[in-house]
Amino acid sequence: MATKLFDKILIANRGEIACRVIKTCRKLGIKTVAVYSDADDGALHMRMADEAVHIGPAPAAESYLVIEKIVDACKKTGAQAVHPGYGFLSENRKFAAALKDAGIAFIGPNPDAIYAMGDKIESKKLAQKAGVSTVPGYLGAIASTEEAIKIATEIGFPVMIKASAGGGGKGMRIAHSKEEVAQGFSSATNEAKNSFGDDRVFIEKYIEQPRHIEIQVLGDKHGNVIYLGERECSIQRRHQKVIEEAPSPFLDEATRKAMGEQAVALAKTVNYDSAGTVEFIVGGKDRKFYFLEMNTRLQVEHPVTELITGIDLVEQMIRVAAGEKLSIKQEDVKLNGWAIEARIYAEDPLRGFLPSTGRLVRWRTAPESDVIRNDTGVVEGSEISMFYDPMISKLCSYGETRDEAVATLSAALDETWIAGIGHNVNFLSAVLDHPRFRAGNISTNFIAEEWPNGYSGTVLPEEQQTAMLAVAALLHIRNEHRARHLGGKLGLPDWTPGTDWVAVLNKTEYPLTVVEADGGFDVKVKKGKTLKVRSAWKPGEPFFRGTVNGRNVVARVAQRPDGLRIVHGGAELDIAVRTPRAAELARLMPEKLPPDMSKFLLCPMPGLVVSINVSEGEPVKAGQALAVVEAMKMENVLRAERDGTVKKINAKKGDSLAVDQVILEFA
Ligand code: ADP
Repeated sequence: MATKLFDKILIANRGEIACRVIKTCRKLGIKTVAVYSDADDGALHMRMADEAVHIGPAPAAESYLVIEKIVDACKKTGAQAVHPGYGFLSENRKFAAALKDAGIAFIGPNPDAIYAMGDKIESKKLAQKAGVSTVPGYLGAIASTEEAIKIATEIGFPVMIKASAGGGGKGMRIAHSKEEVAQGFSSATNEAKNSFGDDRVFIEKYIEQPRHIEIQVLGDKHGNVIYLGERECSIQRRHQKVIEEAPSPFLDEATRKAMGEQAVALAKTVNYDSAGTVEFIVGGKDRKFYFLEMNTRLQVEHPVTELITGIDLVEQMIRVAAGEKLSIKQEDVKLNGWAIEARIYAEDPLRGFLPSTGRLVRWRTAPESDVIRNDTGVVEGSEISMFYDPMISKLCSYGETRDEAVATLSAALDETWIAGIGHNVNFLSAVLDHPRFRAGNISTNFIAEEWPNGYSGTVLPEEQQTAMLAVAALLHIRNEHRARHLGGKLGLPDWTPGTDWVAVLNKTEYPLTVVEADGGFDVKVKKGKTLKVRSAWKPGEPFFRGTVNGRNVVARVAQRPDGLRIVHGGAELDIAVRTPRAAELARLMPEKLPPDMSKFLLCPMPGLVVSINVSEGEPVKAGQALAVVEAMKMENVLRAERDGTVKKINAKKGDSLAVDQVILEFA
């Protein structure tokens, strides 16, 4: 039982997952080696490790993805094992084999299991053999458009066209008709060829109102495999996970058991000997489940499983890689309570979720505790570069019930303050607070259905907005009080605020009646009921923490030139609190208009110009591609918002542009 674990482990990764693996190594008394590229010199994972080895320039293809460099770093430092994290080399059979050849343990499954599960067509065939339920469809590479149409018609619409080598949501198309199959077949084939160098695509039934539910499995080198319950990952944007939870609000005990047992059966067919995830799609109507694919690595969203099972998956991976037998039996696995993870990304939801790069000038969130876990790889002052994925943190909450976990995470997002770069925190709050999400009534289409035209900011329900007006009254009166004290009018009697105030939000005036009370104020908004606002908030503090009518409220507070900015529940409210007389004067002031930028095409994020697709004097139609800008490895096509004529072009191919830099002007 007491196999000797490793003395030193190298983590072939970066960012939050490298930091997370290091934490478990420390707990186990194992020394750690980090690897880092030029862009990560000084990064958190490098500083947390006992040793760090430089492995080359910023592009991953020249550093984190170079097998020989990782093997050399192991040899140089005497690391006996490698944890690959996720992404990069984690599912690369050649890497696992190269380590084996060098006598270094790979903390992941055997290379044959990686290979067998690396291909969607082949893994589906294996799944069928193992008695796992798979999505109805055609299990083979499709040669022509005609064949694609024939097969799709046989399966019955809608269908999903998928790249066999696919991953990260690439090379996937839904088709509802023959025409869409023809289109989807060629675009999925092209995307697959470009992204994976493998253009094989296959077709399966598109499952309606799909929910993505996956099973965590864990195996050892002695033939034991168990399952650790499920995670629901239906909150997705373009087939990419955004919010995950465990358990799933949708599964009953019988379905959970059936899925778990099938996942174990599949894992056993490839002698699975590490942590892995078997992904299923579950029909929202009939609860039928179908195997999608198996990921032969630690999954991004593994923390939610750890929170409800109390099992450290990285520790288990290390133990089984060292040859230990699993000490946990299936009947020992108990799912306690509820956990939710929100992925905080450096991206700008207001600009179509374009990636955002730059310095994290501020990065604060709720402190870690029994109910909050923050897996992050960056600190205030870190640079989010264009070279890697834009993850800032995986913020997780725990609760005895789903409602509790949601409320805790929602409050933690209210306590999150990120500045310097774009981020999706407000969008995550909007999802968590959405009535459909609260009811657990979700599918992978949730985001597309609820924000069909993209996200343009969050509007609070009226009751919450009124509460924020009352909070603003407290903030403003305390600010005024302090300003008068600092004014040095010593000897004068203390300033007593009047009872009548006006809060202005979105050009609407809300008359307030404010009466001082013990620990705060009683605020009556218009003719509504009185709100009791209580807080120890002092001027200058970046967060309001207190209660409104006894309910806990956290909000971020910033002083703006003409009022307060309050961020709460994903909404950014600019509220000015004025005396009735000041409000009257403000009404008489002429309004300043922002400059009209509609005649310019601005660069929406820092990036590199890949192409300018129009020329000066050219008439353009709404929707026409004007330019392509690359950032964080993604090509973003910038399109004309309306018909017009190009007057002047200010950028050329190869230019590196800042955000809001003018690319071209319209006549
Ligand atoms: P990738 O490997 O690119 O992540 P997956 O096969 O895991 O691709 O699928 C990703 C997502 O696409 C799923 O979570 C689900 O939202 C959607 N999806 C995939 N296959 C189907 C299907 N047959 N029916 C409905 N949705 C699907």
